[in-house]
Amino acid sequence: MIFRSALPPVDIPNVDIVTFLRAKIHTCPYWTDRDRAVFIDATTGESLSIAQFEAELTRLTAGWQHTAGLAIGDVVALVAPNDIRFSVGLFSILAAGGTVTLVNPAYTAAEMAQQLADAGARFALVAPEALATVAETRIVKPESTYLLHPTIRPPGSRNLADLASDQPPRTSTSPLPTSPAYLCYSSGTTGRPKAVALTHRNIVANVCQVDAFKRHHGLSHSGQTLAGILPFFHTYGLTILLHLGLVQGFTVVAVRRFQLDDFVPLVAQFRINAAYLVPPVIISLFKDPRTRAGDLSSLVEVGTGAAPFSAQLIHDILTVYAVRFGQGYGLTEASPAVLFTPAAVHASSTVGVLLPNMEAKIVAEDGRALGYGETGELCLRGPNVMSGYLNNPEATTASFDADGFLLTGDLGHVSVHDEFFITDRIKELIKYKGFQVAPAELEAVLISHPAVREAVVLGSYDPEQLTELPRALVVRQPDYCSRDAEELAREIASFTNDQVAGYKKLRGGVGFIDALPKSAAGKVMRRQLRAQLQLGNPLG
Ligand code: AMP
Repeated sequence: MIFRSALPPVDIPNVDIVTFLRAKIHTCPYWTDRDRAVFIDATTGESLSIAQFEAELTRLTAGWQHTAGLAIGDVVALVAPNDIRFSVGLFSILAAGGTVTLVNPAYTAAEMAQQLADAGARFALVAPEALATVAETRIVKPESTYLLHPTIRPPGSRNLADLASDQPPRTSTSPLPTSPAYLCYSSGTTGRPKAVALTHRNIVANVCQVDAFKRHHGLSHSGQTLAGILPFFHTYGLTILLHLGLVQGFTVVAVRRFQLDDFVPLVAQFRINAAYLVPPVIISLFKDPRTRAGDLSSLVEVGTGAAPFSAQLIHDILTVYAVRFGQGYGLTEASPAVLFTPAAVHASSTVGVLLPNMEAKIVAEDGRALGYGETGELCLRGPNVMSGYLNNPEATTASFDADGFLLTGDLGHVSVHDEFFITDRIKELIKYKGFQVAPAELEAVLISHPAVREAVVLGSYDPEQLTELPRALVVRQPDYCSRDAEELAREIASFTNDQVAGYKKLRGGVGFIDALPKSAAGKVMRRQLRAQLQLGNPLG
């Protein structure tokens, strides 16, 4: 059977993202106060009002067109942590007709080079701390690189002041709703990270779906202040904090580098009303006695997503803290929001019910669509679902069934109350604290070590930290079998860890195995190996 949202479908305006957002800003009652902050810097307290935001958006749009010479369809890499100018930089690129690839600023130069080259980046908009790494990639020319800062300008570089232009922007560049707005990287069900091409329409749709759902259930954040802790470069932060924020009229306190100890003072100082976080952060926070002692009186809602959260833990938190607790499920390929819990759902491990305009199937291994209570792969269809991976027809075809449903690689079931439960993952993906770790990437590094004949990387679930830890299993080259195993494991781990961003490190360690179990087609049987080694269920 096909499961459908219980809510009536919402109308999705057939316009590009910036036209959509500008119209929403002008009808949102919370932005009639033109001095109200859209973003506040958590460290410096500097803020950007809606009036400044709109004026800057116009000047930067004109700047991309007249100063930088951006042509329609050009790709700009945005490489920055959460910054109060992230959003205005982002939307100015879209308004000028460009496509943005969002890059984790913590990437190594090699990781960054791979993404910039794959996305075909011609320009870069870069936070000061990422400038050296972007330069090292040598993919984008220095004269096409702009610092995401109005005053910092190291010798030879250009910043937002250099980019901005007072000429009127050309309006003929309004992108088609079906053109790609964002290239976000996700490994999907298998292999290396691939460019998920999210169109203007995908994003406008997802914002409308979440907005309608939240308003219907009385969960709108209108007029509230939200913690900007989720990375803006991940679709979870991108859609909720940057897009929904302008639509619903909330202020985001941008946290550049989040540390657990900062949370309670942040909530107290800025009177934060809602925080969207990932499970490992929530659990560390709420188990810490300092959180209980702090002033969280302004905090009404804590939202979680990106990884599982058990009913027992939600129950434990709700018995101590007077907050509303919401779960959500999504994935980059769906822009990302798919399921949210309505307010009435408490202390349950459900990840929610379908957002409007969404359809889902639970599919058995033989392709049959299953019914209530039966476990299978979750498959999705809706206006927010990507049309495919950029320049990768093979991976795109493999990700959809004949009826156009996206195969998520997640296993789950649906209760008779239409609540969805995610219970296991069949795709290779590992998630460390909400961040995607593609085993294929780590395996490619491992295999370049002389001692490694074959390697597989699996997620080892740590129930204390509520996260998976990447663990490598290595078949040694015969010459290395006599070496001290512990020492060799350490050597291989540090060899690998030195070449990847911090969150991808092999925190689950390196182990040795005589042979990897393989299918008749020669594919490593990851789930079997995970079960055999008792690495735990990645979904708890
Ligand atoms: P990403 O594309 O980085 O957002 O990762 C998407 C994947 O994260 C999904 O396919 C799931 O495997 C996992 N995921 C997202 N939300 C949840 C959730 N609420 N519970 C369990 N797993 C989740």
